[in-house]
Amino acid sequence: MQLLVLPGDGIGPEITAAAMQVLTALNDTHSLGLAFEHDIIGMASLERHGSTLRPDLIARLPTQDGIILGPVDTVAYPADAGGINVSAYLRTRLDLYANIRPARTPPGAAKPFDLVIVRELTEGFYADRNMAEGNADLLATPDVAISLRKVTRQASERIARRAFELAMTRERRVTAVHKANVFKRGDGLFLDAVRSVALDFPEVTLDDILVDAMAAWLVRAPQRFDVIVTGNLYGDILSDLASELSGSLGLAGSIMAGDDLCAAQAQHGSAPDIAGRDQANPASMILSIALLLNWLGARHARPDLTAAARAMIAALDHALADPATRTADLGGPLGTAAFGDTVTRALLAG
Ligand code: NAD
Repeated sequence: MQLLVLPGDGIGPEITAAAMQVLTALNDTHSLGLAFEHDIIGMASLERHGSTLRPDLIARLPTQDGIILGPVDTVAYPADAGGINVSAYLRTRLDLYANIRPARTPPGAAKPFDLVIVRELTEGFYADRNMAEGNADLLATPDVAISLRKVTRQASERIARRAFELAMTRERRVTAVHKANVFKRGDGLFLDAVRSVALDFPEVTLDDILVDAMAAWLVRAPQRFDVIVTGNLYGDILSDLASELSGSLGLAGSIMAGDDLCAAQAQHGSAPDIAGRDQANPASMILSIALLLNWLGARHARPDLTAAARAMIAALDHALADPATRTADLGGPLGTAAFGDTVTRALLAG
């Protein structure tokens, strides 16, 4: 099984190196037979090849079993053809439509919670992915901008189905988050699609909450939620909120999954404010890779990969449980590389 490793921008190379140390140890100890291919994207690729995502690399993406993708500093990318948003490319062109974003407090937290946000990735308020050609983020006059959102029943139903399937493996509760009081058609269609999929999952309880109220509910009582299903932009914002409430964005693991291909990519961005300082928390990347292994285990009927994902999360939890082996974002003393060492040692100790 072949995994392509693309460290990305900013803190990407640091957190990817730490996470790959853990994955390499896991691959050896569990005899998983994973082969890794390394390449560059983002600013490193722009400087060397004139594009953040080279055509020959694009051609290799669909042939992978999985992709390990660092954050991309899209704000710094040029607007011309060389500045391809790698995340958006994977989401739309390779149809990695389901963004699975857990938010879980570390062991020993005073107010524990454990929820997962299931976010649609291919349409919604992201105007760069709503047109067959061109961009739906338009300037009508120099002083009037119009951004168009697309919501389809097909994309809404399939993301809802992923959410209900996930809920069946957890506490069997789904909360749909929307703004159907204002966007009666767009969010109304999304909500209608979620409700129709719910009919196939009678064991799962469905409720729904307006996105603004949801922000308050997450702060007030995050333990109330199990699986949250929502659109692209709401999910992006709420998942950063939920992760920070769990302790730090640095804990925020995530996958972007299609039907045949999955990419591990942390929720956060390239964190230019701490890049190159050995300060970033690689837990997000380690957890993302564990989620990828879990997805591969289910997709290819490989229980050894599922067990390896569990071992990786157990080692991560072991390191996070002790305040003395946490990174700075959680108030701990460790740097990125030392945290990777700690998780690797916990893994090897079993
Ligand atoms: P960010 O997520 O990079 O950072 C927000 C804050 O969280 C910063 O203070 C940062 O230091 C902190 N943080 C993030 N990850 C951390 C980690 N692992 N450990 C400790 N602290 C961490 O958001 P931003 O600064 O608004 O965006 C920077 C760039 O990343 C922008 O170009 C943006 O477009 C891009 N971005 C990319 C992705 C992605 O690749 N999936 C996601 C979000 C933002």
